[in-house]
Amino acid sequence: MSAPSYPIPKPFWDAVENVLMVKSKELIKDIARTLNQSDKPLMEAFKAKKHTFHLVDMEDPTDNKFTCEALVCQHAVAHRCRKPVLLGQKVCPEHTTWKMPAVQSKPELKRITTHEGEAYFVDSLMNVYTADFERVGTFQDGELTLFEIEQEEEYV
Ligand SMILES: [Zn+2]
Repeated sequence: MSAPSYPIPKPFWDAVENVLMVKSKELIKDIARTLNQSDKPLMEAFKAKKHTFHLVDMEDPTDNKFTCEALVCQHAVAHRCRKPVLLGQKVCPEHTTWKMPAVQSKPELKRITTHEGEAYFVDSLMNVYTADFERVGTFQDGELTLFEIEQEEEYV
């Protein structure tokens, strides 16, 4: 499957490319300054190569190609780090030593977000969980139904 493409007016793309070239050269100078070396060899190597830039739509929730695949466990439900990664990398610089857990089959949950910005997780049976893996509802036909749990009063 090829990546979707979006038409961009040439003057706009030229301006974006110019900014990327300027920022690339600033980065080269910064690297050389940090290493206390001349920027000349690196700058010549950079200029000798033709550069093409690609834009990546980081908002596409189905495209995990350019996001870190390390699992982060802050709550009961682990989630992907999803920070941007360099082309060809699977993890971000923060997770270079991360290894996929050796669990053969791990249950996968799909993240859903309400219009209010609350995140829930749905399993294959359409049960809905919080990040603490507390079952709080169901999800069917694109509709989230949360349980309303009332505390029963104690009877004497
Ligand atoms: Zn990461």
